[in-house]
Amino acid sequence: MPLTVKGKLLKVSVVALRTFGEISNWRFGQAKGMQDNQEHLHFLKPSELCDFDRTPSIRAKALELTSGCHNNDERFQRIFDFVKELHYGLDDWDTPASRTLARGWGMCSGKTNLLVAMLRSLGIPARYRVFRIKPEIALWHWISGNDELARLLGDAPLEQDHVDCEVWLGEWRPCDPSRDSLFERGLMSLGIPLERIPVTDDAGRVPYLILASFDQWAKARQERRRLREKRNEIFARVNERFWRIRSLGLDEISRTMVHVRWTGAAGVELTHGGRTILIDPYHSRPGKLELAFMPLNPRPRAIRRYLNMLPGKLSAIIVGHTHFDHALDIPEFVKDFDGPLVGSSSLDALMQMSGISNRVNVCSGGERVELFEGAAVTMIRSRHGLVAFGRVPYPGEIEPSMRLPLRASQYRLGTVFMPRIELGGKVFLHAGSANFIESELNGCDCDVLFMCVPGWKRVPGYSTRFLKIVKPKIIIPFHFDDFSTPLKAGKKTHNLPFQDISRLLRRILENAPDAEIRLLQPFESTVF
Ligand SMILES: [Zn+2]
Repeated sequence: MPLTVKGKLLKVSVVALRTFGEISNWRFGQAKGMQDNQEHLHFLKPSELCDFDRTPSIRAKALELTSGCHNNDERFQRIFDFVKELHYGLDDWDTPASRTLARGWGMCSGKTNLLVAMLRSLGIPARYRVFRIKPEIALWHWISGNDELARLLGDAPLEQDHVDCEVWLGEWRPCDPSRDSLFERGLMSLGIPLERIPVTDDAGRVPYLILASFDQWAKARQERRRLREKRNEIFARVNERFWRIRSLGLDEISRTMVHVRWTGAAGVELTHGGRTILIDPYHSRPGKLELAFMPLNPRPRAIRRYLNMLPGKLSAIIVGHTHFDHALDIPEFVKDFDGPLVGSSSLDALMQMSGISNRVNVCSGGERVELFEGAAVTMIRSRHGLVAFGRVPYPGEIEPSMRLPLRASQYRLGTVFMPRIELGGKVFLHAGSANFIESELNGCDCDVLFMCVPGWKRVPGYSTRFLKIVKPKIIIPFHFDDFSTPLKAGKKTHNLPFQDISRLLRRILENAPDAEIRLLQPFESTVF
């Protein structure tokens, strides 16, 4: 059956090519006699501009980037990502690869040339692709503005030359490393399209010029450069504008991210798009004597001081359960706040006692509450950790018939939730106490898990099975500070004793090996 044979032969040749790239990665140039690869030898050679033979740093960088890679697809991706993220800037057409690597920036031709040189230095065939694109008018106008630079730059060209490349990964795959992501972000924030539109011929095809060496073409193109006078000055001024575009990109990234702080005890602050969600905020922090013997009162000044420094507009408050270290401050927080307040009937009783009726969005477990546009919380039913001598402290509900102020022991547990917050395209799971109910966690994957430390040893599944169910990408251990001592900026935080955090971290690494652990100090901020 000729077809089958042919098919088999084709497969063999593809496998041989892949193997070739891999062998030559560690023994460059030793793959003689592999006839299938003859046609690719052109695309492995150095040249004057593709100078990896004379500049060892090119191959050294390529090897460093690809350490631990198993195949050429992975190697290509690492090198491509590296070259792409070098900053894009206006430059000469005929820049050697070594120069682009040393400077750490370049334009389409320079960055492509470096990518080709690095790939070839590892025995991965790569070739240049030159074509014409429609002018990037919007970018041109933004760059030239209406000052002297516009006069120096002249009118936008009718067509532009563009250089990218193709890499051999069992087939020729085109790739364009020219613009760094931050620059692209900035362009997007200006509404400038990222797409480059190739100029086609009469038949509607793009006449690509495929080259093994682009030295001749690049030198000829440099000869034809429109900008001859004051070239370096113009480059510098244009590149300065590119940096302004990048700074817009940074703002854009910052706007799209969720800014997070752990604020002591189970307190978490999530800020996105200028709005802040608080979970279990606790800033009064009464001392040990008060906790043991006295009725507790929120400290309005401490709360006010915190609210004055809030990074966004206070937009929602969520309460996981009604122990004093989660709920004591809530009536004070709610005095000047009329947004969503989500919690249990026990919280509702506390609010009624404080003279604020019908204020709580009362949940009993499983409800999903819209907080504001683009933000929601699901109140997953949970269990409290076993902390005091293996028992749940202060079980039961706060009753509306009680009178304020309450003692620590009167801040009864109420329903326990593990709030799951969707914000800024991310999912945050707040395990404010070290326990869980497996049947409530179906499909409750999360990006970020706030993981209560105290009591973790008492519930064996909490550091094993629980992590396998919720599959966090990032874990923030918290609630391990001694919440009966004040938090002072710049001062070391007192931690609760006997928590064995290092053993917990080892357990996390064993059971969620792909998760990243971020160990924060109170009020230290991080972004997602
Ligand atoms: Zn508690």
